[in-house]
Order: sequence, then C-alpha cells, then structure tokens
Amino acid sequence: MKLTDSIRYIKGVGEKKQLLFNKLGIYTVADVLYHLPRDYEDRTSLKPICELIDGESACIMVRLASEVKSFSPRRGLKMVQAVMSDGSSQIKVVWFNMPYMAQKLKPNIEYVLYGKVSYRGMSCEMVNPVLDESGNHRNTGGIVPIYPLTGGLTQKNIRDVINIVLTNAEEIPELIPTYILNEFKLMGIKEAMLEIHNPTDFEKFKQARYRLAFEELLTFQLGVCMVKGEKKKGTAPAFRDVKCASEFAKSLSFELTNAQKRVINDICRDLKSSEPMNRLVQGDVGSGKTMVAAAVMFVSIKSGYQAVMMAPTEILAKQHYNNFKKIFSKWNVTVAILIGGQGAAERRENLELIKSGRAGIIVGTHALISENVEFYRLGLAITDEQHRFGVRQRSSLSEKGESVHMLVMTATPIPRTLSLIAYGDLDISVIDELPPGRQPIETFAVNEEMRPRINSFIMKNINEGRQAYIVCPLVEESETLDAKSAIEYAENLKNKVFPNLEIGLIYGKMSNKEKEEVMSRFVSGELNILVSTTVIEVGVDVPNANVMVIENAERFGLSQLHQLRGRIGRGKYKSYCILISNDTGETARERMKVMCMTNDGFKISERDLELRGPGEYFGTRQHGLPGLKIANILTDMDILTEAQKAAAIILKKDRYLELDEHKYLKENFESKFISVGGRGILS
Ligand code: ADP
Ligand code: MG
Repeated sequence: MKLTDSIRYIKGVGEKKQLLFNKLGIYTVADVLYHLPRDYEDRTSLKPICELIDGESACIMVRLASEVKSFSPRRGLKMVQAVMSDGSSQIKVVWFNMPYMAQKLKPNIEYVLYGKVSYRGMSCEMVNPVLDESGNHRNTGGIVPIYPLTGGLTQKNIRDVINIVLTNAEEIPELIPTYILNEFKLMGIKEAMLEIHNPTDFEKFKQARYRLAFEELLTFQLGVCMVKGEKKKGTAPAFRDVKCASEFAKSLSFELTNAQKRVINDICRDLKSSEPMNRLVQGDVGSGKTMVAAAVMFVSIKSGYQAVMMAPTEILAKQHYNNFKKIFSKWNVTVAILIGGQGAAERRENLELIKSGRAGIIVGTHALISENVEFYRLGLAITDEQHRFGVRQRSSLSEKGESVHMLVMTATPIPRTLSLIAYGDLDISVIDELPPGRQPIETFAVNEEMRPRINSFIMKNINEGRQAYIVCPLVEESETLDAKSAIEYAENLKNKVFPNLEIGLIYGKMSNKEKEEVMSRFVSGELNILVSTTVIEVGVDVPNANVMVIENAERFGLSQLHQLRGRIGRGKYKSYCILISNDTGETARERMKVMCMTNDGFKISERDLELRGPGEYFGTRQHGLPGLKIANILTDMDILTEAQKAAAIILKKDRYLELDEHKYLKENFESKFISVGGRGILS
C-alpha cells in the first residue's frame, strides 16, 4: 500500500465509508496515518470501587454480586442490570439495549470493566461499560485512542482502518535528518506513528507526541527562517541622516522614556542600511508608540523620503493627522491624509500633495492601498495597530515604494516565543515602559444592581471636570442593530439619566463628517460623555477622560477589553474602568477577574490566549498561521524552543535545504507553506 494511494484500496472502505472519511479530510493512506487521536482512555490501571470518583472513566476488576436482571421498562428499551463487587465495595452496572449481556455474565468469573462512573447519592453506577473476562484483554487493559469522528463512523471503524494501514502501508519517509534525531534524542517516525496510535505505555506515548510536535514546529520554524531570508532581498534607501532623531526628541515638551529611545535607536540602525527594515514594535496601550513613529518619520523626511502611516480606523487616522500636523509645523512639513469618506475634491488635492512630493508625511486608512495612490519618493511605511490588518494589507503597503522600510506597531503584546510565530518574518522591539506619572487604572466588575451608584460616580467625576466613555452593548454582528441600540441607549441617557450633561454618540455606520464632529467635541471637552460602540477601541487619545463604563462586558474578549480600557488612564488623573455584566458564567467571571487584577497587557494577553486558545486568538486566517495539528503553541513552548535550535543547526549546514538528507524536510515545508492556497506566510 502506497502512502499516496486512495483510501478505497483499504479493506473495508467502500464507496459510502470513503465519503465519510473524506469528510474528516482523509483521502489517502497518508491522511489516515496523520488522523491522530484527540484523546486516550487509560484502561491499563485498575481502581478499587471505593476510590472511584463521580464522572471519571475507570477500569475495575469485579465479580457478580447479584442475579443478572433483564427487563424492559418501556417499549423499545431493554435493560440488563447487575450488582458487582471487587471486595472493596459494590457497584451497579447497567447495559441499555444489549440484551445479550444477560447471557454473557456468569457468576464466579472475574471481569474487567471499563466505563464512566456516576454516583446517585451514595450508590455508585456504571452504564454501558466495555467488558473482558479477566486475563483475556480485548477491550480493556491498554491505552485506547479516541479519534475525531463524523456522523456515520464509529471509533471501531477508524481504529480498524488505522490498524490495517499501520501494518500494510509502505514505510513513511523519515524527514528529520539523522544527526538531528540523535542530537535531540527523538523517536524515529515509524515508531512514533505506531506509538501515537497504539501507545505501549504513557512514557512511549509522550516520546511519540514530542517527536511529532517537534517535526511540526521544526517545519514551521524553517518556513519562518526561509521567509525572513527572502524578505531581506531587494534594497531600500539607506537614510543618510539618522542622528536627527535627537533633534526631534529635543523639540518635544516631555522627555522620551528610555524604552522609546531604545526602540527609536533599533529602528534608526535599520534605516541606515539599504536592507529593507521589517520591524515590529510592540508596546502596551499608552506606551507612546505614536511618538516613536513620529521620530522615525522625521528621520525619513530629513533624508529626503516620504513616510506613510496607515491606521485601522478613520478616527485614528484623523487623530494622527492632527497630531502630526501640530508636531511637524515647526519644520514646515506638509501632512496629507487619505481616508475612505473624503469628498472628491479633497481626495484629489491630497493625492496631488502625495504625488508631487509636497507632502512629507501621509496618514490614512486602507484607502492608502487603493490602486491610484502614487507616491513621490516613499522611504518608510508604518502600519499602526497591526493586529487589525491582515498580512496581505501590510505587504501591499510596502509595495507602494520600490522597496521601502517597513514598521508595524501593535498594542497587542504577545509572549516573545509566540511572536516569533505570528510575526516570524519581523524583527521585534518592545516598548516595555510607560511614560512617568501614570496612575494604574482601577477596575471594577459589577452587575445591574450597582447602576445607581455607577451613575452618581460618573456624575461626581464630571463635576470635577473629567469626561467619561460609555461603551455600548454590542447586540449582534450587524452594524445596523448596533447602531440602533447605541442610539436608544444614548437617548435614554440624555433624557432620563443625565439631563444636564452634554452627551455625544459615535458608531461605525455614521458618516466620517459626523464622527469627526462628535470626536472633536469630545476632545475639546465640550461633551461630558461619549457613548460609543467599539469604534473607539484603538488608539484614541483624550487624556482628560478618566472613567470608562463597559456595558455587557462579557461580550468582549480580554484583549479587546484591555484595548478599550487603554482609552483612559492617559493623563494625570486617577482613572476608573467599570465593567458591567450580569453573566455569571465561568468564562465571563474569569475574564472580569483578570481585568480587575492587572493592567499589564502581557499578562492579559497570556490569559486571553489560555482562555480562548491560539486559533481564535490569532485569527488563524488573518495571520496565515498554518494549522498545527499536534503541537500546541501554548503548552509546547519547550518543544518550540528546541525546534528553533534544530532549525538553526540545519540552516547553518544547508541554507537552502539542497542536501539529500534534507530532501523530505524541504518537500514537507514546501507543501505546508507554499501551497496553502496563497494563504501561507509566503503570500
Ligand atoms: P499608544 O502606544 O497607545 O499609541 P500614544 O502614542 O497614543 O500611545 O501615547 C499616549 C499618550 O502619552 C499621548 O498623549 C502621548 O502624547 C503621551 N506620551 C507619549 N510619550 C510620552 C512621554 N515620553 N512622556 C510623557 N507622555 C508621553
Ligand atoms: Mg496608538
């Protein structure tokens, strides 16, 4: 049996079964091998009945302690029931619709049973256990694999097919070279396959799993390194004057933090070279990424190149625009802006500024990527809040110039090893320090009953001259509904709760002009309260706002809550975040607890990752993270670290994987990374 053969060649797989297997993504013999158990049942170790725990699945060795009763409580339902004992205690055993069990069970014979235990008061019960006569182990006594299923297939169907393939298929090529197998003490592929499907014992299983996860992460890491190598080709302008960054720093009304200075230095080192920069700046909300961007944009202009910054929302683009206009007016630098909702004339005017080179700095939304934007001499492209964009958009921004220096900035701090995977093609700098004088935000999780107290708390802060955000419930995935609920909410607030206050409302569907107007009224302090959907999520900066109320907080993920909360605590005032939720579910409670306990974005994102799992966390598609089948990037950090070492050794020996001993490794890597329908990290 060849690995590439269709599963139709396997005994017992007919037309019908073939389709069912296809549903599980299994088409070939090799696919069968890589259909790995999702779990295992330990049927190896016997437990005394008196130690059984409610809900667990366990193995017991017992004899009959009563007559076997066979009866039919209602039509179509047949029950076989017996009391069994192991000397330590007794257990009631029940089989539904298996009348033959009544004949099978004999007194004075020792049986091994495996099944799920449940307690009814003090009495213990096992329903539909599998059973062997002691000494003759077919169903019990081993570590039994549990496979992912689809309707119409049983565990037995899958086990049978897998066992046929394990004994009859041709040998699986060993893709890890021998010197790596030896150095990292890895199990060979053949043994690993046997052990992952039918573990001899848990030690062997662990080694098999380790080896397979290692293989996956090694392939991944090789991919990442190769891409990194590729991207570095081509040349970007080498900026002649990078010292001027300090001239910029001196012009500010505050001292840059050491972290900001260090990151600016990292970037300037890259900019001096004609090798295109590919750098990620990570910094928690409020760590001052915009100033870092401004400083290096200044360097770009001074070297005679335009710099562009792309933001994920129009509000944010607008804010950067105003900010940069102010900052750069000292040097007579013109700033242009391109956003979706601009009028034709305004757009034409800005396009002209960009094309003629009169604009040194350009900000905008993804409107910047649209076809007809022509730059005069682009040298630096910055993407703000990168986690909002896909990899694709990021790279098309860089294609605007011949080859430009790329900087991406994100407030989503992720553990370092993980960022190597998510942003494997980037160098990374971290702003791990907040500007001085910030007071930690105090966070409270409350329910509806606290509403009156919250309202008077908001009032008190507004009377002291502060402002408040209220983030409105996100009702549906539909923008229209969101808007409706936000509008109603704001009306109610205006009419009934705070009749004497100025309340503004902002949501995604509003026109840019409307949004802008509301935003600038809030920035100027004219509005006391801003009610919004999540459009304010990223980047908005109003230091005077010190209270944020988040309605239906359970509907947000941890990272999103952290982003939202980052809108306050930006000035010298003590800030408060109030999470309102009536959800008493475990996840909701856990999230609220995390938010109340820490302000540290790194800690929060780690918890977020744990609570949600990496797939959703990254939005796999968006980041082109090929699905890992075995390795879990959260819990297999140690394997990842080892795989990274191995990848370095391999590439040092053979940069392009041209040696014969790396042949299978290269094939595997190419099939995983290049053929993911253009979604791989090479795309
Ligand atoms: P983020 O990293 O979330 O994008 P911003 O760049 O918006 O943060 O900065 C948050 C606030 O901190 C802004 O008001 C900015 O002017 C201010 N800021 C930035 N750097 C410093 C600094 N070194 N000292 C004091 N305030 C700073
Ligand atoms: Mg920002």
